[in-house]
Amino acid sequence: MRLLTGAIRPYAWGSRTALAELRGEPTPSPHPEAELWFGAHPGDPATAAPENISLLTVIDADPDVQLGAVCVAEFGGRLPFLMKVLAAEEPLSLQAHPSSEQAREGFARENAAGIALNAPERNYRDDSHKPELVVALTEFEALAGFREPAETIELLRLLQVAELDPYLGMIAGEPDSQGLRALFTTWITLPEALLARLVPAVLDGAVAYLGRGETRFAAELKTVLQLGEAYPGDPGVLAALLLNRIHLNPGQGIFMSAGNLHAYLSGSAVEIMANSDNVLRGGLTPKHVDVAELLKVLDFHPVRPEDLAPRVSELGAEQIYETSVPEFRMSRIELDGTGMLRPESISFDMPGPQILVCVQGAIELRSTAETLTVRSGAAVWLADGDPDVVVRASSARAVFFRGIVPVPA
Ligand SMILES: [Zn+2]
Repeated sequence: MRLLTGAIRPYAWGSRTALAELRGEPTPSPHPEAELWFGAHPGDPATAAPENISLLTVIDADPDVQLGAVCVAEFGGRLPFLMKVLAAEEPLSLQAHPSSEQAREGFARENAAGIALNAPERNYRDDSHKPELVVALTEFEALAGFREPAETIELLRLLQVAELDPYLGMIAGEPDSQGLRALFTTWITLPEALLARLVPAVLDGAVAYLGRGETRFAAELKTVLQLGEAYPGDPGVLAALLLNRIHLNPGQGIFMSAGNLHAYLSGSAVEIMANSDNVLRGGLTPKHVDVAELLKVLDFHPVRPEDLAPRVSELGAEQIYETSVPEFRMSRIELDGTGMLRPESISFDMPGPQILVCVQGAIELRSTAETLTVRSGAAVWLADGDPDVVVRASSARAVFFRGIVPVPA
């Protein structure tokens, strides 16, 4: 086992306190800290002790020992997942991720077109899908998945904005995935002159709705106002009218499968995803936006917020967030240093690579070979070839997340 130091991504939407507090560093941090990556992604691999070398270098030196033969046979000589702690102070871009088939096709197409891998206009930086599971550490806010059309129709009616009438007609006349596709496509490609009239009208309508003290869609419309202020004239503001407004309490999760349109708004969370960079953006960002490509991958089938929540199964102190993704499985483990309320320790004997990310307190890992302490904000790498470990809380309360590659049934 190896202690891991995460790689900090200083995106502008990041928090100056959340990740610093997690690591026990002074706050506010000098720069926004958006994401803390624990993985072997070539873009920013974690640093592995004791030599302080990249985890990517560790794995590349001996994939069979580090990942195990089963994992190598299935995914090649690379860690198939990436774990992150993310801390959003401001909304992230409106985005979706491709399916495996779309990623393979898009990657080959952009290669054939001679677009450099690191070009800003590149959509497909690898040939992998990028399913994402996010589990809240604090209260966490997001937009995800198209809302049931009947509810969206109700929202648009209650807004009482005359400029919305033709669009309300589109979705009311076809209250299903086809209607959602037609309306979203119209809005995301709306000529600037129309957009410049429609977005302010919608924002005025939202202000009036909230001013009347109406509550049913208050959270949705506050988000629309927030996005309108941050990204004036961006069609993503209109898209927010169509998406589920998700609120997660700590420990609750949502799973974004291929084609799910989403935007994280605020809060801290742990995220696990297939080790890919394939993001198609639709707005709410200064980064590259490719609407035509986004429209190709979007899934317009309406979902309810509860449809996005993974099933959680409990195994002793371990809460497992079930998804059907072959690349990863994530769980949350809470241990009690006093052993009075919860188990004091847990043992792992699963084969394959594992990363444990400590998010509260500290844990101690003990195997026949060694003992290692991991504090909040750090992680540990367990190679396939490592002996089994017992993990014990070395603080009154210790919480960590565990990412593994599920064993095929
Ligand atoms: Zn995403």
